[in-house]
Amino acid sequence: MSKMDNLRAMREAKYADAQKRAAGAPARPAAKAPVAPATPAAARAAQPASVDASADTDELCGHRNMSGRTCTRERGHSAKSHRYS
Ligand SMILES: [Zn+2]
Repeated sequence: MSKMDNLRAMREAKYADAQKRAAGAPARPAAKAPVAPATPAAARAAQPASVDASADTDELCGHRNMSGRTCTRERGHSAKSHRYS
């Protein structure tokens, strides 16, 4: 009685493991292959663009007047007054 139950449980466990391997095996290589080569190329392409964008904002004085506008003169300008245009 108990031996039969054990055999049945072992058979069911083996069947479940076989189904997991069958479902997981083909998915792993397919998911890895496209991701690995694409990630470094995308990171290289994104980095120079973000650096250029931050460099543009650093050229300005950036001083804010009371109404919230930003000074458009160059950074460290010699003029005494800020310009908001
Ligand atoms: Zn200024």
